[in-house]
Amino acid sequence: MEGLKANLTKQVFQNTNPRHFLDSQDFNRDELAGIFSFADELRAGATEESIRTGRDTFFSPDHRTLHSDKRITIASTQPSTRTIESFKTAANILGIADNAITDPGIMSMVKGESLSDTLLTFQQNSDIIAMRHYDAPSVIEAIKKLNIPYVSGGHGNGTQAESCHPTQSLLDVYTLQRTFGELDNLDIAFLGDLKFGRTINSLARMMAMYDNLHLHLCPTKGLEFNEHDMEFIKASGIGYTEYDNVLDIPHWVNVLYLTRIQEEYMPKGMNKEQYLKDIEPVRMNQAKLNRFSNDTIVLHPYPRNIDFEMDESMDNDPRFLPNEQMYNGVFARAAMFNEILK
Ligand code: ASP
Repeated sequence: MEGLKANLTKQVFQNTNPRHFLDSQDFNRDELAGIFSFADELRAGATEESIRTGRDTFFSPDHRTLHSDKRITIASTQPSTRTIESFKTAANILGIADNAITDPGIMSMVKGESLSDTLLTFQQNSDIIAMRHYDAPSVIEAIKKLNIPYVSGGHGNGTQAESCHPTQSLLDVYTLQRTFGELDNLDIAFLGDLKFGRTINSLARMMAMYDNLHLHLCPTKGLEFNEHDMEFIKASGIGYTEYDNVLDIPHWVNVLYLTRIQEEYMPKGMNKEQYLKDIEPVRMNQAKLNRFSNDTIVLHPYPRNIDFEMDESMDNDPRFLPNEQMYNGVFARAAMFNEILK
């Protein structure tokens, strides 16, 4: 089994210099354990107020000087609330100075500049780049010219690339580690848009590094996993079961991972409306959650579309952890920056 896992672990950029983070398998199990343990240390050293206010005076002084000689460029060509904010705060925890360009309208790519030239410009002014970009193949190509690390904050969508939101997986898996204490033997249900969602295909691949994973796939009708994802699951020997109604998922699963329908990625001829008529069987609410075990947690990468994949009735249930995911994300990303820069 270990041999099989080693073969499946692509670690596309693991042995490159610089060390990029583009695929959720670019860090192996041992490295992830180190990242999570340092994330715990950072989490213990920061107050919630420091994260909320972004005032670095609240961050642990031990960590604030760790990389205070480093600079990061954070850029995005797609909307983002959590990921970009989280990158900035993560950088600040370690004392990394950030240049953030989050309005694609002010980048020269709108004047026809290539992504490659854009990244080479960032490279002149930074020690690391964290970026969200709408086109996976362009990113994979452009970073070959870089001699500083590139961290993906999402590239393309689930139909384009096999693992296109590795730092989301990092915070998801860190949340699982903190919740369950171990990452082997987990049963994870994926609900909603498995086709275009980039968080799910990345998470499946990161979790494939752990033993005895079983996936429970409950897609919105018509938005099933892509062929490359099913091939990966079958080839890796991960157990999986398919459902068309959330109430058929065993009540003892560890995780219900919800996603929104990602209309922005749908090609011409497809639109959200056509999937909404079939959404009821995969929609979550408190009454349905009550059928699950007291230990079943609910995760969602956000943004959520209230009254589509879920309503707000679960918000006060202690098993509903999206805010915890978000909070963990800052520390997991900071620990990952530290790993890449050290
Ligand atoms: N924030 C996640 C992403 O960028 C999920 C989403 O947008 O629905 O992929």
